[in-house]
Amino acid sequence: MGKTMLTGDRPTGRLHVGHYVGSLRRRVELQESGGFDDIFIMIADAQALTDNADNPEKVRQNIIEVALDYLACGLDPEKSTLFIQSQVPELCELSFYYMNLVTVSRLQRNPTVKSEIQMRNFEASIPVGFFTYPISQAADITAFQATTVPVGEDQLPMLEQTKEIVRKFNSVYGDTLVEPEILLPDNQACMRLPGIDGKAKMSKSLNNCIYLSEEPEEIKQKVFSMFTDPTHIRIEDPGKLEGNTVFTYLDAFCRPEYFPEFLPDYTSLDELKSHYKRGGLGDMKVKRFLNAVLQAELEPIRKRRKEYQKDIPYVYEILRKGSEKAEKRAAETLQNVKAAMKINYFDDAELISSQAERFQNQ
Ligand code: ATP
Ligand code: MG
Repeated sequence: MGKTMLTGDRPTGRLHVGHYVGSLRRRVELQESGGFDDIFIMIADAQALTDNADNPEKVRQNIIEVALDYLACGLDPEKSTLFIQSQVPELCELSFYYMNLVTVSRLQRNPTVKSEIQMRNFEASIPVGFFTYPISQAADITAFQATTVPVGEDQLPMLEQTKEIVRKFNSVYGDTLVEPEILLPDNQACMRLPGIDGKAKMSKSLNNCIYLSEEPEEIKQKVFSMFTDPTHIRIEDPGKLEGNTVFTYLDAFCRPEYFPEFLPDYTSLDELKSHYKRGGLGDMKVKRFLNAVLQAELEPIRKRRKEYQKDIPYVYEILRKGSEKAEKRAAETLQNVKAAMKINYFDDAELISSQAERFQNQ
């Protein structure tokens, strides 16, 4: 069987460097590898509305921001189908049937949903749509018969939920859906990139992001204000790497060729780390290096984004075409699902003739 990739992002803001190392960078590599028959990249506006129901304008405004970030990172509409979730109504229909295969207590156990409920102060009154979004995510993945889902660590529980739905569906109705594999980043720092404040996750909702489209001066200011090791006060003091955001970012972004270019006194990140741990290396020097690395990584992305920004109608056209293609694929799956569930009455000539026979004899 061929390989299909499906992944996406919520249009709740511009994309940030956490998205980049957690998923976007990998998507582009996989796109360029040529190893996939189909690649679907979804802007999850319907999912974003599950916790932004009172602010549809925010979602509407951010669709183009996410699309621009995709193109800026190198997702190529000739090779990857970029589409908008709400424009593929088949996804809602699939979710509706999958809901019968999941219990309330199973959804309540989902650790990502639990922490997101807390973060949004939803404890007292959770919107049903938000509570059930892992089911809609299962619909998104299975609609495209995706084999591979490259995402950050926070998505592990969603993939588990999807696999359970696939197994349950296939065991009740017969083999119909494909069980997807999660593709996590290969580097620990990229699994869940912390925010510049040192908090566990860089997230649009937490306001601790470096955005992909950020201007050079903003990047520098954010890097210079970054959380490091609070006990590393004087340069001579030994420093800690655990929880030190600047080093976590270097783990995520640094390449060997950046040393001769920006910090020729050192040959590798390991050497820099041991000096820091020993003492005698100041935070500012490391921050200046990280700033140079991030500037080098983000400059081509920012430039490409500015090019696409000149022709916004073209970007919407890419999304419209992508949504049409995505809908075709999802409709095929929905047809198979309905046939497996025996709710394809009008396509089933045998059903109609056998019912006719049954009533003839009455
Ligand atoms: P929101 O706060 O609206 O949920 P978010 O910043 O969490 O936004 P999502 O759109 O939910 O972003 O996530 C999109 C993708 O990016 C997912 O694959 C997710 O795993 C990945 N991702 C998001 N934040 C990070 C991060 N800090 N580190 C690694 N991957 C991340
Ligand atoms: Mg999220």
